[in-house]
Amino acid sequence: MIELKQKYTSIGGWEEEPKPLQSALNKDINADVVIIGGGLAGLCASLELVKSGLKVVVLEKEFSGFGASGRNAGYLGGALGLKYDLFLKKTGTEGAKNVVDFYEKGVDFAENIFKEYTIDCDYIQSGLIRAAIHESQEKSIRNDMKLGAELGCETEFLDHNEMRARGIPPAFLFGSYISRGGTLNPGKYIQGLRRAAIQAGVELYENTPMVSFHEVDGTVKVKSPNGSVSAANLILANNAYMPQLGLLQDRTVPLRVSAIETMPLSPTQLNALGWYNREGITTAHHIMESHRLTARNTLVCTTKKLHYVYGSKTPNEPDFGQYRALKIAIQDRFPMLKDISIKSCWSGYISYANDALPVVGTMGRHKNIYYAAGCAGHGLGTQGMIGNFIAKKILGYEESMLTFLMANKTPRTLPEPLRWCVLNGALFAASRLDEQVNRKART
Ligand SMILES: Cc1cc2nc3c(=O)[nH]c(=O)nc-3n(C[C@H](O)[C@H](O)[C@H](O)COP(=O)(O)OP(=O)(O)OC[C@H]3O[C@@H](n4cnc5c(N)ncnc54)[C@H](O)[C@@H]3O)c2cc1C
Repeated sequence: MIELKQKYTSIGGWEEEPKPLQSALNKDINADVVIIGGGLAGLCASLELVKSGLKVVVLEKEFSGFGASGRNAGYLGGALGLKYDLFLKKTGTEGAKNVVDFYEKGVDFAENIFKEYTIDCDYIQSGLIRAAIHESQEKSIRNDMKLGAELGCETEFLDHNEMRARGIPPAFLFGSYISRGGTLNPGKYIQGLRRAAIQAGVELYENTPMVSFHEVDGTVKVKSPNGSVSAANLILANNAYMPQLGLLQDRTVPLRVSAIETMPLSPTQLNALGWYNREGITTAHHIMESHRLTARNTLVCTTKKLHYVYGSKTPNEPDFGQYRALKIAIQDRFPMLKDISIKSCWSGYISYANDALPVVGTMGRHKNIYYAAGCAGHGLGTQGMIGNFIAKKILGYEESMLTFLMANKTPRTLPEPLRWCVLNGALFAASRLDEQVNRKART
């Protein structure tokens, strides 16, 4: 516990705060488009808009990359691991095919962005494996593979022998493999986008929270503590932080997700591990574990437990219960790394809707206020793509995928305190079921 307390980092383990920060806004200015939030959604929208010569202003509460975009696990995956059953009934098969296609296209989108802006983010196109840690998880893996294939996400079953031939650590018995996607360093990705946006002429103001906005005759005026931006269009790209501002609180909830990173593995430890192709591994638990190696030869383990903070708050604070659980997961899955020390641990927030689908739309009398949230733990490819789609819509191009997403009616969240009780109750129950499987795997 003392070790974990010392290793907590409040901005995530991937990046340092960029130096120097862009200055804070301290005057009243005009723009064509003002964007709130300098994460993947906000920056990808800004890059598309500025290409067309528009004046684009991004207001970021802290620094670009402060949110989930700079703290995630770095799995650039398509539809593998989506909980199809959460939306299939609602969307029908054709709608679900669109959803799968959307997530799959998110991988291409991000890969194209790396090339277009020459972003080196240690991306390895290794593919991903959804693995079982106990025989009892085979049914769920096979069912998801079958459903995924019907909806457009083809995966390959890797049996015990094939997993061992790839050098996958033995705790991961078998699984479904997809060759698309891989893992990257999220800090390098978002900082590469930040640099590209500044170079392209996007006006990024950091340490500049939006405190309010209002609309007069089609112009939106956004206020920050020491200035304001008036623009023809506003994009709210502050994702999990939206409910704090009274936005989308009836449709999305922020969930806290945590990560833990080991110290770099020695050559002997790496040898003992195998894992030659470094595929990103997720597990078939109700709340998955994710395990991956990084370019700096550390091991990053994420998720395992989720937590909802009362009132949809998003305090930037540690969650030692989650870090302890992740440490146990590392010990369980990698017994050959006995006593490996921890380099860092951190937490962040994802935006979650009850149907697990993205929450995209417009508001305001003139429909010139756009928002992009949701995507839960799968936004590394897709949130940037949604930002790009919104930008294109503002520029006058209709993206059929965006029209499809905007037509989705997100279910309402429960009022508090019911929301807190039901969400954390369900998360607790899921953890208990997962723990039963872990116990069986240990014996
Ligand atoms: C621990 C963790 C692991 C994850 N792992 C993966 C993964 O492996 N693969 C995957 O696909 N997805 C993953 N995700 C999800 C993914 O990171 C997100 O879906 C994605 O980064 C969201 O991008 P965004 O731009 O919408 O939001 P964010 O990156 O959260 O950006 C929102 C920004 O808005 C700013 N902001 C908030 N309020 C204001 C305000 N009032 N004024 C101005 N600015 C404001 C914030 O500071 C923040 O920088 C993970 C998330 C977490 C937390």
